[in-house]
Amino acid sequence: MTDFSERVKSIDISGIRKMFEAAGPNAINMGLGQPDFDTPENIKNAAIDALKKGYTGYTNNAGIDELRLAVADKLKRENGLNCGLKNVLITAGGSGALHAAIQCLIEDGEKVVFNNPGFVSYGSLAALAGGKPDPVALRPDLHLDIEALKEHFADKKTKVMVLNSPANPTGMVESQETIRAVVESAADYGVTVISDEVYEKFCYDGVGFVSAAKFGDNVITVNATSKTYAMTGWRIGYMAASEEIIGEAVKVQQYSLACPTSIAQYAALEAYTGDQSSIGVMKKEYEARRNLLIKGLHDLGIEVAMPQGAFYAFPKLDLDTIMKIVAADVIITPGKAFGSLGEGFARMSYATSQKNIIEALKRIEKVVN
Ligand code: PLP
Repeated sequence: MTDFSERVKSIDISGIRKMFEAAGPNAINMGLGQPDFDTPENIKNAAIDALKKGYTGYTNNAGIDELRLAVADKLKRENGLNCGLKNVLITAGGSGALHAAIQCLIEDGEKVVFNNPGFVSYGSLAALAGGKPDPVALRPDLHLDIEALKEHFADKKTKVMVLNSPANPTGMVESQETIRAVVESAADYGVTVISDEVYEKFCYDGVGFVSAAKFGDNVITVNATSKTYAMTGWRIGYMAASEEIIGEAVKVQQYSLACPTSIAQYAALEAYTGDQSSIGVMKKEYEARRNLLIKGLHDLGIEVAMPQGAFYAFPKLDLDTIMKIVAADVIITPGKAFGSLGEGFARMSYATSQKNIIEALKRIEKVVN
């Protein structure tokens, strides 16, 4: 028997995957956190060009300068952050940025605070770094509880908080005041905030997006091309932070990844500098799907808060009903996969067509009536 490390033994394969096995071949998949759109043509063409030009070797560990600059410009222009090339590390998706950030900050036994329910990776990345996952309950309205967070920040073991708005799995978007309060209270206790902004572009009902780094120097911004440009498989994201943090994080990347894929970096350069119209098209469609899904769930008497962002709804459903819905060929994810307090909820991704959502609602109707 191989003797595996405690770090690896303490984490589990994501609960989301387990649902796929329970459903049939004609199942409608509302379990995936992945845009169902194709990557825009101009971006694909940039990758083809890069390939033809022979940009197939290693790049700088931190990514190509053009892309680091393009990201710095984007952060200046769109997010009001004071950023230059040296403040940006290009990573393998948002996941690579989260990994590098947590690896370079967390010492054995130090705590990483994040919301419960919350995105599956935060706790596991903390454990892999030798740290302790410290999930903090959301309020009943699924928004962050600042007072509870402050109590956790006050614990001397707390080193990092991962903030995620718009949030996976709840779809909630935090107000500017809340984000400011999180960053400022974290700073009071010497806690670094990793702001996971991968759903930045998908805020609805005119709700504005604000980057946490606007409110303090204690923030590492994480984002990716994955959701914004429907590029999940390209694996390009970034981390933006002080030069000092980037200098340490690049070491983690150097030895774990060497560099992000060269061709995908050129595609990402086109994504950030080329035509941005695809984002608006996707956002409009997501918003229409959200409205369709939430109305449909309400019509079935299922309790669900109106999500203002990302592409998830988080209705109240017990596990028995969830399993019946999956058996009726609609794949959804039990809320418990996102933390103990996700129990009694399910995550439904509306990154699927309106036709599929209508059919899914019909199948769900048969289960709940
Ligand atoms: N952060 C959140 C909140 C996510 O939902 C996801 C993917 O589902 C990621 C990060 C990872 O993104 P990437 O595919 O860019 O690694």
